[in-house]
Amino acid sequence: MDKAFIQEMKEMLIKQKQLIIQNIAAENEEFRELIEDKDPKDFADIASDDIDKKMLKTLEAQEINRLQLIDAAIARIENEHYGKCMKCGEKIPEERLRAIPYAFLCIKCKSKDERRHR
Ligand SMILES: [Zn+2]
Repeated sequence: MDKAFIQEMKEMLIKQKQLIIQNIAAENEEFRELIEDKDPKDFADIASDDIDKKMLKTLEAQEINRLQLIDAAIARIENEHYGKCMKCGEKIPEERLRAIPYAFLCIKCKSKDERRHR
């Protein structure tokens, strides 16, 4: 996969991560205290696993789930598995990644997965 594209996705993931952290901080005072002395640039270093889920409300917990997906996607970029379907190994189309940079299933596997859960 194109290096420039992967770099672009990485930046997008980090931006989304910063945004989610800011959103949670706006809603949650305890969380705000936690990140208060951090620079927004360093938000990307906050691991979703470090966040105490007990202190979060349901809506915030959903955001943490997204953070985990984003963290996992960044990890896949680092070990060069990014852009491949975790199930069948097929390449995930760039337009799908552009829409959901943390997508880890191709559309085929994703729709199969959704059918199973319905
Ligand atoms: Zn697949």
